[in-house]
Amino acid sequence: MTSLTGSTALITGSTSGIGKATAARLAALGAHVIVSGRDVSRGGAVVAGIRAKGGSADFIPADLGDADSVHQLATRATEAGGGHVDILVNNGGIFPFGPTADTPADQIDEVFAVNVKASYLLVAALAPSMAERGHGAIVNITTMVAEFGMSGMGLYGSSKAALVLLTKSWAAEFGPAGVRVNAVSPGPTRTEGTVPMGDALDLLAAGGPAGRPGEADEIAAAIAFLATDEASFVHGAVLPVDGGRLAV
Ligand code: NAP
Repeated sequence: MTSLTGSTALITGSTSGIGKATAARLAALGAHVIVSGRDVSRGGAVVAGIRAKGGSADFIPADLGDADSVHQLATRATEAGGGHVDILVNNGGIFPFGPTADTPADQIDEVFAVNVKASYLLVAALAPSMAERGHGAIVNITTMVAEFGMSGMGLYGSSKAALVLLTKSWAAEFGPAGVRVNAVSPGPTRTEGTVPMGDALDLLAAGGPAGRPGEADEIAAAIAFLATDEASFVHGAVLPVDGGRLAV
């Protein structure tokens, strides 16, 4: 795959799961990776793992539910990148499930703040300077349940459906200036975050051709493709990486 040497990549939610696997992949391709999340010790461990393999990484803590913290993340990532962030992966997210009638109002605010508003603020802060330099790649992480209705997943799915539309809007806005904006739509994937789902994860995956949940690195492989020039003609795409679950 194309080398990312000289590039800086900010990956939100990279203290765990899909984001952590993506950080390792992009670092292996030569990018200077900015690992982010709230958990300092998990972030430090991800950075140490990348450096131990000869990669370049720094940890910048941020709370995606707090707009000031998101703005600081954009500023600090740009500084750490020597004045530029070339790749942004909007991966950090939360996925509470449950009956609509039992959903507290503040949970609605939190899901939309973390899953939508933080991504919006990061694109607003970083995409214009990518456009000025004439190149950049943004990959948003959505979900298969942004595409179809599933009982108890309306809040989560609707937040990611917003990100699907934003992917296409930002492709239209920034693509002509050389910034490619795409999304990966994972199916059920084994991560630290889905451990509490237990067998429900396998049941969710069972209906697809692969018949099993994905591994975080299988999602990261698709994210890395969209982040590199291998995907130079791909704009505004939402790539399902779900074992075929959406197709059947
Ligand atoms: P995970 O293991 O739970 O990791 C979530 C990451 O998001 C962690 O690094 C966490 O960091 C970060 N995060 C959560 N809330 C945050 C906040 N308020 N501020 C900053 N960082 C925050 O999740 P995952 O399964 O890898 O999922 C990653 C992405 O893929 C999510 O957007 C999810 O919706 C999407 N997805 C996952 C699946 C799946 O089956 N796993 C399927 C479809 C889509 P800290 O804990 O350090 O804050």
